[in-house]
Amino acid sequence: TPSILWFRRDLRLGDHPALLAAAGDGPVLPVFVLDDALLRPSGAARTAFLLRSLRALDADLRRHGPGLVVRRGRPEDVVPALVRETGAAAVHVSADFAPYGAARDERVAAALAEADVPLVRTGSPYAVAPGRLHTKGGDPYKVFTPFYRAWADHGWRAPAASDPAGVEWATAPGDDLPAEPDVDAELPEAGEAAARARWDAFRGTPYDDIRDRPDLDETSRLSTYLRWGAIHPRTLLADLDARHTHAQVYRRELAWREFYAHVLHAWPASARDYFRPELKDLPYVTGREQRRRLDAWAAGQTGFPVVDAGMRQLLAEGWMHNRVRMIVASFLVKDLQVEWTHGAAHFMAHLVDGDLASNQHNWQWVAGCGTDAAPYFRVFNPITQGVKFDPDGDYIRRWVPELAGLSAPAVHRPWKDGPPDGYPAPMVDHATQREEALAAYQLLRRNH
Ligand code: FAD
Repeated sequence: TPSILWFRRDLRLGDHPALLAAAGDGPVLPVFVLDDALLRPSGAARTAFLLRSLRALDADLRRHGPGLVVRRGRPEDVVPALVRETGAAAVHVSADFAPYGAARDERVAAALAEADVPLVRTGSPYAVAPGRLHTKGGDPYKVFTPFYRAWADHGWRAPAASDPAGVEWATAPGDDLPAEPDVDAELPEAGEAAARARWDAFRGTPYDDIRDRPDLDETSRLSTYLRWGAIHPRTLLADLDARHTHAQVYRRELAWREFYAHVLHAWPASARDYFRPELKDLPYVTGREQRRRLDAWAAGQTGFPVVDAGMRQLLAEGWMHNRVRMIVASFLVKDLQVEWTHGAAHFMAHLVDGDLASNQHNWQWVAGCGTDAAPYFRVFNPITQGVKFDPDGDYIRRWVPELAGLSAPAVHRPWKDGPPDGYPAPMVDHATQREEALAAYQLLRRNH
């Protein structure tokens, strides 16, 4: 009898503990369920990248067997149906800790239990599974630095030696993958081999000095592959220890991803709710004015060069440099006074690396209402941030062609001598907005 390996956020064959577990049971039927609940809120770039990742996984599987079986529908219907059709003895997965995935898995496990078939969870998308680490008092961590220490002390297993060549692969009838939506964005190549190639190309970069510089574009860009599980963080951590000269800094970045997964697991409602609820009462704009501001921000038409460059990079690549994510998020919340949840939703629709834990919690960090957050009164200046992190203006010129004829410093303040043709004047005055935001915050503090 076969067992089912149900892929979700683990679209790879190497370093795959659930594949090892499934292969120990006999023939393995590799399955992906196209779940409309996950596809519906996805923008075109995100959906296209998922479909390309599935095609890459299928091609990798076909080198060793019949390929990936895709079924469309609700997992709680589709997975038990496949078990009935194939007589599978078990369904193997990597555990999912995000709120939707965890609830879905409970429903599937309950449906399978009726047929006396177990849902076996082995491994997770993290080096240390969310829920594993606690403070001395037994509580979940809310602050990064002590979490990081506990995480590093806890350590992780060596990469799993899963080898698709040694597996007996089974098959069953499947549905065709849907056609890819039209995408304007230029996406990275999907799949496990592309993820590995990215990682190999990244090693050796003097990462700690230049990771804050969007113009240099020297970060690893592995977030998209980590999101879809084309590579496991443990693979990276094992390599880091062995070969990377900038291991400490990179390990810490990976730990932020683990920290936010851990926070979301401990407080599932934090995907929507403010960690510091009093900030919910700030006088955010609403209605038509909110729509107008959000539209200008999302289109990269605010008149603030580095903000517009970032928002246009998001549309063009489905990705944005971390420093610029912070700048555009701060601008939306503090300068435009739009509630962070609207910006987070726009990011989730367009980011190909969009991940609920990392996205919502980074937004809350910038908005000043998260765990461990930057204090609300620390307001980014969208112009000096550009000057500091894109000193020559290369990043701005790359994404805002209207400013391509300007050099630094003019490219950071293009309206000084009248904005260039086709580029909007600044939609707000930063100094005024900053004063307003801080006054509202002071008032709120007095009233709470
Ligand atoms: P590198 O600098 O090469 O870092 C390596 C890896 O470390 C990243 O791939 C990522 O997995 C992890 N990492 C680094 N910084 C962070 C961080 N602050 N939080 C969590 N993980 C981190 N990251 C996402 O993966 N998905 C998101 O949806 C997401 N939304 C964000 C929203 C906002 C408002 C902000 C400020 C940040 C967000 N980030 C998100 C974090 C960060 O911007 C990206 O992980 C990073 O830009 C990805 O590029 P990279 O792989 O080249 O990063």
